[in-house]
Amino acid sequence: MPIYEYYCTDCRQRVSLFYRTITAAIETEPVCPRCDGENLRRLISRVAVLRSEETRLDALADPSMFSGLDEDDPKAMGRMMRQMSNEMGEEMDDPEFNEVIDRLESGQAPEDIEKAMPDLAGGEPGGMNDLGV
Ligand SMILES: [Zn+2]
Repeated sequence: MPIYEYYCTDCRQRVSLFYRTITAAIETEPVCPRCDGENLRRLISRVAVLRSEETRLDALADPSMFSGLDEDDPKAMGRMMRQMSNEMGEEMDDPEFNEVIDRLESGQAPEDIEKAMPDLAGGEPGGMNDLGV
């Protein structure tokens, strides 16, 4: 059962919505269960959901995927990149990239990671530069 997390801009709460099917999740306009507001912003789901290739690409192209992202929060960034990595599958199964995620998730600042991993600045395939980060 797909679970999506949203941030309601009306009541300023983080809410989780459960859908019976993935299709329902895509087609249904999210409504806040607390205040019935419709101004929900999708956060990155913590639940892995298997999706078809097509929806996967849609999800990646969907800017709302990043709307809950706090760029000053390395852990949030790490989670986002982990999510992206999961979405992309083996294309991004790169040891260096995974190390960056690990460091972000442990709360390390991106600048410190760049210092610790100087190769990243060289634009290596799979490096942070490829992500436009
Ligand atoms: Zn609300």
